[in-house]
Amino acid sequence: MNNNPCLKSVYDNITHAAARANRSMSDISLIAVSKTRTMQDILDIYAEGVRFFAENRPQELASKARELAHLTDLQWHYIGNLQSRDCKIIAQYANCFHSIDRLKIARRLSSQLELYDRNITAFVQVNITGEKSKSGFVCDDWQNNKDQLQTLVEVIQEIALLPRLNLLGLMTMAPFNSTEEELHIIFQSMSDLSVYLNNNVSDINMPYLSMGMSGDYQIAIEHGATHVRIGRAIFGER
Ligand SMILES: *Cc1c(COP(=O)(O)O)cnc(C)c1O
Repeated sequence: MNNNPCLKSVYDNITHAAARANRSMSDISLIAVSKTRTMQDILDIYAEGVRFFAENRPQELASKARELAHLTDLQWHYIGNLQSRDCKIIAQYANCFHSIDRLKIARRLSSQLELYDRNITAFVQVNITGEKSKSGFVCDDWQNNKDQLQTLVEVIQEIALLPRLNLLGLMTMAPFNSTEEELHIIFQSMSDLSVYLNNNVSDINMPYLSMGMSGDYQIAIEHGATHVRIGRAIFGER
């Protein structure tokens, strides 16, 4: 284990960030983002003990999942935008869907999951800075803007009622050009939003936070990330 130097340094960084926040390393799931990587790249990291891999294109996920179906403990996470017509692929092959960005997709995915007789876990994607290029429910001013918060709450309450989709928490992507100071504010706002929802909305129990990528996972962990999605820091530049 940990013969791969990139993976080792990611684990070291996770351990240190968790320690700074008085958190346990075992509360943090490392998801290796394998989009664009070869089968051999994936197998090498699997051999190091990593079991969660993420893709952002349905067809790529399907073909990799089929080819590696014999590795029954390998789990596929889907982190990209999803069109209605591709919900069946995610329903068939994914174990976790990180990017619910509209109710329609959650409904469609839920009904496809019923067809395939599968359950998956899921995150609701939040656009925490209002960046135009990002998907997710806009919550850049949720502490003041009651409409933003109410929209999110209503969507979550509806999704929570859908069969087969087990809501774990919220997911976000920080803007690529954020400063460290901005990243602290962004991830703390996500953490506050999560706590708010779990404490103030009845019947909501979704305490997990999918946030943190190669450039910002250490800061995300300091603010409570439970699922970090890391590509380049493990596999190298794309
Ligand atoms: C590509 C991607 C990642 C990983 O990005 P890296 O910079 O390679 O770590 C994480 N999350 C999402 C949603 C992505 O699309």
